[in-house]
Amino acid sequence: MSVYLVVFVVLSYFVWIKCIYNRHRRTLVKSLKNVLDVSPGRELDSADIRALIVTAHPDDECMFFAPTIIRLVELNASVHLLCLSEGNYYHQGAQRKQELLNSCAVLGIPGSRVTIVDHKKLPDDPKTEWSVSLVSSVIVKHIRAHSFNMVLTFDGRGVSGHANHIAIHKAVSHLGSSGQVPNDCCLLSLVTVGLIRKYISFLELPLSWLLPSCLLCTTGSQGYRQAKVSLEIDTWLAETGRWLLLESAHVFLAPLNKGMYSICAENARAGTKFGKRDATAEQR
Ligand SMILES: [Zn+2]
Repeated sequence: MSVYLVVFVVLSYFVWIKCIYNRHRRTLVKSLKNVLDVSPGRELDSADIRALIVTAHPDDECMFFAPTIIRLVELNASVHLLCLSEGNYYHQGAQRKQELLNSCAVLGIPGSRVTIVDHKKLPDDPKTEWSVSLVSSVIVKHIRAHSFNMVLTFDGRGVSGHANHIAIHKAVSHLGSSGQVPNDCCLLSLVTVGLIRKYISFLELPLSWLLPSCLLCTTGSQGYRQAKVSLEIDTWLAETGRWLLLESAHVFLAPLNKGMYSICAENARAGTKFGKRDATAEQR
């Protein structure tokens, strides 16, 4: 009897996951309209989404942002990537730069929309504290030059805890709180999840569904394959050993397949986590 109960519970859980997955696939456009403040009566045009993903190193785009990139590209959004270092920690910067371009091409971002910063004060090094003002100025120049209306980056815990990731979050927070970001530009951060949630792969989806978030990007099997190919391009991951590559894929790519990738809006409309000032309140 208990065996039947376990089977029933397991099957029910998988059905639940499938239902949530289907629902999120259908409602992504609606969520994006909310995030971008598009009026309910108007259709969301692909030209409405001009997204900038800000990362610290080559491989961040495939390890952390692949589901987001893939889903936005599927909607024909204009997706750009700004990577703030060449990933030169092991003196492989030139190679990793090319790998980043290749990885982005797999994910659907052409090289013309990828900007890689090579600045001596922004080394790929967890022990070096990046200057918030320097990072802020690089990002805001890019936002203004391309009129982005959506900026996506790490949250305050950096997703993997890397100091360079956290520095980007601080910089974007600073831009938001100092009112330097255009009012039509929303700031989104990728939610850091705990170790167990990372490791349970797509089984995590109900948890992400139950917990509050503004946008939940899920990829299908095609998206999962894209993400996996982009991850395998990275030399550093390959050189750390196949087991780690598989582990990394499991940690970061499994959620793309049938699982989740949760992004929480932290702009003025949704709250003040990113510290963006409420322009309306200021005008009063
Ligand atoms: Zn990184």
